[in-house]
Parts: sequence; C-alpha cells; structure tokens
Amino acid sequence: MALDIAYSIEIDDYLDPDRAYDYYWSGIIKDKKKFLCPGTDCDAQVTCANLDEDLQDMKVVPHYRIYGNHSENCEIANNKPLHVEYEGGATATEEKRTIDESVVEIFSLERPDSYYDELRSTPNSEEIISKKISPAKSKTNTRLRELGSVGTIYSVRSVVGRYIRYRKDDSLKHRRLNIQGKDIYYGSIFKCIGEQDLSKLPEHPVIYYGWAYINRLPSDKGYQIKFKKKFRKSDEEYITTIMVADDLIENYKIKKLVSTRLEKIRKTQKQTAFVFVYGVPQEKQAKSGNKYANFQVLNLDMIDINYDCPLPKEYDK
Ligand SMILES: [Zn+2]
Repeated sequence: MALDIAYSIEIDDYLDPDRAYDYYWSGIIKDKKKFLCPGTDCDAQVTCANLDEDLQDMKVVPHYRIYGNHSENCEIANNKPLHVEYEGGATATEEKRTIDESVVEIFSLERPDSYYDELRSTPNSEEIISKKISPAKSKTNTRLRELGSVGTIYSVRSVVGRYIRYRKDDSLKHRRLNIQGKDIYYGSIFKCIGEQDLSKLPEHPVIYYGWAYINRLPSDKGYQIKFKKKFRKSDEEYITTIMVADDLIENYKIKKLVSTRLEKIRKTQKQTAFVFVYGVPQEKQAKSGNKYANFQVLNLDMIDINYDCPLPKEYDK
C-alpha cells in the first residue's frame, strides 16, 4: 500500500517523501531507514526508497516502503482513515472535506524560515512510540497525514515529482496548483521554451523547460545555463539563459544536490541537462544585436536540473 507520509524518527515529526528528500540533501536527516508507519500505536519500520539517490531519473521518485508488521489497530493496515488530533483538541474532519473537494496545492515562492528548523534531539527508542501518539505538531502535517500529499510545495523539483506521480495515478485532471493566488491546472503548468511566442505567454509565472547546455562562466564564479531551443516573437529568435552564481549555490540549503548534479553534467561529453525554471522571461538586447529572453533566478528552488527528461516522451525536446 502506498504511504504518503511517515513518521521520521530523526526529526520527530511526520514528513511526506518530498520533504524527506529535501531534508536528506540538506543534511538534516541522514538515514533512509529511520521512519515508522504513521498508524496508531504502530511501529512498522518504513524506508524512504531513493532518498539517498541523486536521482538520475525522476520517474523513480522518493517514496515510502513499509517493512515489518503493523499493529492490530493500525489504520494503514486496516485501510481506514488515520485518526488524528490537532494540538488544541480540534478534529480534522471539517478541513478534510474542503480539501477533498478542491485538490489544490499551493506553490510558495519562499520557504518559511522555519522550514529547515525542525531538527530536534533524536529521541531514544523507548520514547519513540509515546512521542508518536502525541498530537500532531502542525495542521499542515496533520493534513498530509489525513489525505496524503496535500500541502504547500516549495520547489520546482517537487512540482515535477508530483506531476509524475499524479499522471501515474491518473488524478492529473483534478489537480491544480495555486501560484500567487491563481489556480493553474497541473496539466498546463509546463511550457516548452522552443514552442513559445513571447507575445503570447501567460502573464503569471509558469514552469518553462527544455534541454540546455551547462557552461562554467568565464569569470569562474558560477554557471550559465543556455537552453538549446529559443523563444520566438514572430520570426525573431530570443536566446534564453539562466545565470547561477556560485554564491547562490553556496547559500542554498540543498546545495549538495545542486552542485553534485552540475558537476556530474559538466563531466559528461555533451554537458547538457534537462532544465525546468519557474518564472517569467525578461527580454533584453545585447550590443551584438542578439536578443535574449532570460530568467532571473533568486532562489535555487525555482530551477530543477536533470540528467535526462523526467517527463513522458512528448516533453523530451
Ligand atoms: Zn502501521
């Protein structure tokens, strides 16, 4: 049975696989086996598969696998909704209904400062079960616990991962993402750079994608990502690049993931990557006369760099 969230022994809270992946690559959690089933009184061991993989192929997304036996009352084993109490005594029922009807996730441009602050002292094994049956810490995690992966998304990488998951479970047509107050269907959030006319782009940011060259900047202070295909405006072509300064990588919590990927790509013969970027391109004209439509990335959550196209074939261009 698929498990959307699990209890992390290392941070003493409930996590969905996307967040577990972020936590692993930012060094907050270290062991993919230190998870438990979220069911009541259940201590069935859970492993987060692919947690430690620098995913070459995002079709194999991080996910939970259960080992060992569930408790008699475990809701997961009995295929029942999880019984959850909020801190403060409220129940989850009312909120559950509204979420079930809408299935909208929120794509937030900034992680809250507290996102990476959840590291607490590791509880010893006797403490684990008693901690686990205490009320859930936050409404967000409780919602995740009740319903699976409904919640705020903080990175393009997670949007791509969820898109793949929803396509697989055939729920894509019901799924929407709320970006800056606007609901956008998952099915229309990705746009291929090579197929876009600049005068017809949506005004709100979406996720653009395509194959790109990864070059080191002449200054040796960062990378240039240069898309192979170009935006157009009628017959004119606009070269599209993204600059990623070393400082930006250095200040990113999941820098190990980004720097590992960039360096691996640079060592391949082609030096190309399949890149997603969230934003609105900005037009510029260089002195040479070349026209550009560049993306400015202030936060590495806004790009996702892959060795290969993680989406179905029709996107691979
Ligand atoms: Zn269980």
